[in-house]
Amino acid sequence: KQSTSDQTDHIFVSKLPPITIPNNIPLHSFCFQNLSQKSDRTCLLVGNTGRRYTYAEVYQTCRRTAAGLSNLGVKKGDVIMLLLQNCAEFAFCFMGASMIGAVTTTANPFLTRAEIFKQFNASKSKLIVTQGQYVDKLRDPVDAGSNFLKLGRDFSVITVDEPPEGCLPFSVLSEADENDAPEVEIDPDDAVALPFSSGTTGLPKGVILTHKSLITSVAQQVDGENPNWHVKEDDVVLCVLPLFHIFALNAALLCSLRVGAGILLVQKFEMGLLLELIQSHRVSVAAVVPPLVLALAKNPVVDKYDLTSIRLVQSGAAPLGTELEEALLRRLPQAVFGQGYGMTEAGPVLCLSPLFAKQPFPTKSGSCGNVVRNAELKVVSPETGHSLPRNQPGELCIRGSQIMKGYLNDPEATARTIDVDGWLHTGDIGYIDEDDDVFIIDRLKELIKFKGFQVPPAELESLLLSHPNIADAAVVPQNDEAAGEVPVAFVVASSGSEISGEEVKEFVAKQVVFYKRLHKVHFVNAIPKSPAGKILRRELRAKLNAL
Ligand code: ATP
Ligand code: MG
Repeated sequence: KQSTSDQTDHIFVSKLPPITIPNNIPLHSFCFQNLSQKSDRTCLLVGNTGRRYTYAEVYQTCRRTAAGLSNLGVKKGDVIMLLLQNCAEFAFCFMGASMIGAVTTTANPFLTRAEIFKQFNASKSKLIVTQGQYVDKLRDPVDAGSNFLKLGRDFSVITVDEPPEGCLPFSVLSEADENDAPEVEIDPDDAVALPFSSGTTGLPKGVILTHKSLITSVAQQVDGENPNWHVKEDDVVLCVLPLFHIFALNAALLCSLRVGAGILLVQKFEMGLLLELIQSHRVSVAAVVPPLVLALAKNPVVDKYDLTSIRLVQSGAAPLGTELEEALLRRLPQAVFGQGYGMTEAGPVLCLSPLFAKQPFPTKSGSCGNVVRNAELKVVSPETGHSLPRNQPGELCIRGSQIMKGYLNDPEATARTIDVDGWLHTGDIGYIDEDDDVFIIDRLKELIKFKGFQVPPAELESLLLSHPNIADAAVVPQNDEAAGEVPVAFVVASSGSEISGEEVKEFVAKQVVFYKRLHKVHFVNAIPKSPAGKILRRELRAKLNAL
């Protein structure tokens, strides 16, 4: 990508002073720094079993896992695949791999066999760590031409539970002799994680994150005299979002390890169980996504639980309207609520609410916070490529040591995304106001174009959710001869409520400029969402075409 920099560049930085980031060491050394001060504290708390691991135990098990991986032939630069729901073994493998200079690629265990092997082959993974229930998908894998891979023959599978036939027990890793782990030289620019983007707008893309990127990102959040994400040693951090997605991996796991907090691992989302766990373990910090905010704000069962221990709630990964934010705060009046803005390629955090800081700054409702420290943000006009001053919407671009090294096996896509001056172009449209608050309007690709006017679906969705009889909603474009595209809504009515399509249309029409009016309302039972909390608009568009 060509340079978008010029002499009049409008560049925005954090209000927090820059800090010194130790990003010349490996990620595991950074996360386990000062181990002796936290060795007896609870590190991992496994929700479904109640099992606790102290920092000392976690560190030792990671080292054994490093040795075990090495015994299985995993070498520096090799990739291992984790196909896991949230569990302690996820952390052991991720950190263990880091210790021998290996790289972890993470995948959603609900992927199909074809999707799993696409990622497995693209990343050249050496082995898969998974749960027994997913192993059938790994047998007789799809025929990749002459490249027919067979479990046990071409790759090993280790299960964290009872191993099915042909698989190895997790003890081959966790009970290895830690002295067997080789000493390796790790360069800060070596890859350590290979997450895949969510696949919201197209196929998921493999993203190369280095030791330096992840350390920088974690430090930008939790290091310094005034940390931006002020998680403390005595916090219990909720990890219910899937660790295979970078948001939970970074914000819930890595940041908490760095500060020495406890991490409550919740295997899968089930409202009653989740509330029970929050109550009984006195969860104080939570990383959530908009669908979870929706459930916490609107589900009546929430009132039956004591959630007063929660002091910080961060929502990220998808747009969240002010209405929902206010509804959540009515439920959790004692909590500080704010947003984070992340993107896998950005390491992932670009912006974070200043309300989360040790000495907080104010921010406005609906903002995704301010740019993180030790980084630069600019807003670029999609038409001219020039940077824009405050309050003018354009494409958000970020620069700093936290961003990805590049896309896996795709130098062209990398060059389209990171320009020659090191700016990562996000594809998100937003603006920065006079107080440095960043607002995301929507993805560039998802803006609906009505006769050339731009309609951000996220804005209409937020409006729809403010209606008491609407439980959930999504807005997508429908092709239209006269206007090009028109916005149409999929709506889930609240249980027991009566609301007609006409009423929904009128409700919106009264509050928006003419070109943002809904042209049609389809009632559905649920809005399709990804495990990371994103609306799957592709599916809804397909549904529209099939109607
Ligand atoms: P793909 O790139 O594969 O299509 P994806 O972009 O959804 O999928 P992620 O890297 O998980 O994959 O998500 C990053 C995107 O999520 C951002 O580019 C942005 O569009 C959206 N996002 C993240 N945080 C926020 C937020 N606080 N508000 C609005 N949107 C957000
Ligand atoms: Mg993306």
